[in-house]
Amino acid sequence: MSPPIPVVIRGAAGRMGQAILRVLEERDDVVLAAALVRAGSAQVDRPVYPSTEVPLRYAEALAPGVTTGVLVDFSVAEAFDTGLALALERRLAFVSGTTGLDEPRRAALDRAAGSIPVLWSANFSLGVAVLTRLVRDAARALPEWDCEIVEAHHGRKLDAPSGTALALGRAAAADRGQDFDAVAVLARAGEQAVRREAQIGFAAVRAGDIVGEHTVLLATAGERIELVHRATDRWIFARGAVAAARWIAGRPPGRYTIEDVVFS
Ligand code: NAD
Repeated sequence: MSPPIPVVIRGAAGRMGQAILRVLEERDDVVLAAALVRAGSAQVDRPVYPSTEVPLRYAEALAPGVTTGVLVDFSVAEAFDTGLALALERRLAFVSGTTGLDEPRRAALDRAAGSIPVLWSANFSLGVAVLTRLVRDAARALPEWDCEIVEAHHGRKLDAPSGTALALGRAAAADRGQDFDAVAVLARAGEQAVRREAQIGFAAVRAGDIVGEHTVLLATAGERIELVHRATDRWIFARGAVAAARWIAGRPPGRYTIEDVVFS
């Protein structure tokens, strides 16, 4: 068996970072190389796995010796640039699920992909990766059918429609040769109440503790298809991120997607 892939977690004290640390513990094909937290965090120097003999401690900076493997970043948009710079400096593959990235940060990912393997995704659920592929196929096969996307999340979510709903809409538009921004209707009210030809409409539900649900509806006179994904547990994102880290290690520089992980 080949040696385990060293993985550096950045944002290790956060909800996703903690979930990823637990997933790493369960696997023997990947191994934690460092658990990075923000400067001044109370976690610095505390043991990562206190109930085991693994000596690793949370750290603010990456030890100089770590120069192979994958950096997995689930932090905050403001800290994203330094994370990507660290991966470039050490020639580590870069996997990130950090959301809220603006256009310059997205462009920086493209540039970095010229030097290191890069995989960023708004949603690391393997099920959503499959849903996206199904949506592409259906949208292409049924180009005249109406397409609308409904998503539901807990009430504390800051953005609407969700990044995943938008990504599904972009996938459908791309496979129909449409300009997404020209056909997307982000909420149906007022002048947008009536559906116009070729539009991709969105609706957002906010209630209770819903982890995340996405329905892509394709409809025509007399029949309709509904493609639905329901997340019930946030662990799916951590498992997907670790699967992506395992998959990307050793690949040539380039921009990869979670769909590549599932389908290649
Ligand atoms: P969180 O607030 O619990 O954790 C973020 C962590 O990043 C915090 O511990 C914070 O201290 C740390 N951090 C900030 N600056 C840092 C730095 N310079 N170096 C190291 N760590 C730093 O948030 P979360 O729920 O863990 O989510 C993290 C990110 O992942 C968010 O952007 C969230 O939207 C995104 N997310 C993506 C997916 C996905 O599938 N793509 C799923 C869930 C969450």
